[in-house]
Amino acid sequence: MEAISLQAYAKINLGLDVLRKREDGYHEVRMIMQSISLADTLVLRKSSEEGIHLRNHDGIENPDVPMDSTNLVYRAIQMLKEEFQITEGIEAVLTKRIPVAAGMAGGSTDAAAALKGMNQLFSLGLSTQELCERGVKLGADIPYCIQGGTALSEGIGEILTPLPKMPDCYILIAKPPINVSTAFVYGNLKANELTKHPDIDGMIQAIHQQDLAGIADRLGNALETVTIPAYPVIADIKKIMVDCGAMQSLMSGSGPTVFGIFSDEKKAQATAEQIREKGLSEQVYVTKSL
Ligand code: ATP
Repeated sequence: MEAISLQAYAKINLGLDVLRKREDGYHEVRMIMQSISLADTLVLRKSSEEGIHLRNHDGIENPDVPMDSTNLVYRAIQMLKEEFQITEGIEAVLTKRIPVAAGMAGGSTDAAAALKGMNQLFSLGLSTQELCERGVKLGADIPYCIQGGTALSEGIGEILTPLPKMPDCYILIAKPPINVSTAFVYGNLKANELTKHPDIDGMIQAIHQQDLAGIADRLGNALETVTIPAYPVIADIKKIMVDCGAMQSLMSGSGPTVFGIFSDEKKAQATAEQIREKGLSEQVYVTKSL
């Protein structure tokens, strides 16, 4: 094999609870993760030119996603290249479609794709478990991104329990044109004073029962308590989604991306139009649950 092309899927959080802030500063979370059809594409190719050569597919630099040795794709390739003493050069071409710094694990899913791609391209023989053990060194969400689908994620995000696939539905994504720093959100979260916690156990039950309405009813994200007061546009987008027929809507991760669950594709498309027309977001996508 000389080259491999991979889809790196985005995630949303159907539920995100923060249990407490640990003494070491990390937050203990319980999250329901869900892959959606929106994806970046990563092509890895063996190259006669030594080293790692990462670029954007259109060759245009995006200041938000440096294509240098800090990019998670580069770091993932480098990690396996060093461990397995791979001397061949590697060309990596990334097509970004997942909004950046949006609460959709864009960087983590690209890194997961890079690990899986390297494993196949160089026949390293690593199991999923072994890939996850390496991935977690680069980011707590990477083991989930390696496995994908529907899962409960605990600890600081690295303890995974797979769940049954959520019932098929349309998931409308809208990222408002603001940048929200994950550090700001967790830094301002009063984790030990949260009075309302999302019903994660009820969500798990609804997923087992394949009850889409029950899932929609239990959408909840503890981080909204910080992000929404700071960025009210998130509440505006949530409201428009529900007014236009979403079963429910929620902010994903630390934001600012909002998603809405729809059983009807036409309603999801019409809502996307409304959000664009009102100038609330240009990054609007109708996707499906995976
Ligand atoms: P999470 O949901 O895991 O918090 P996110 O969606 O909020 O992730 P990312 O899109 O992963 O955030 O981007 C966070 C930062 O990571 C970016 O500002 C960017 O500089 C850096 N980064 C490194 N590698 C990548 C990559 N391959 N794609 C996107 N961002 C990357």
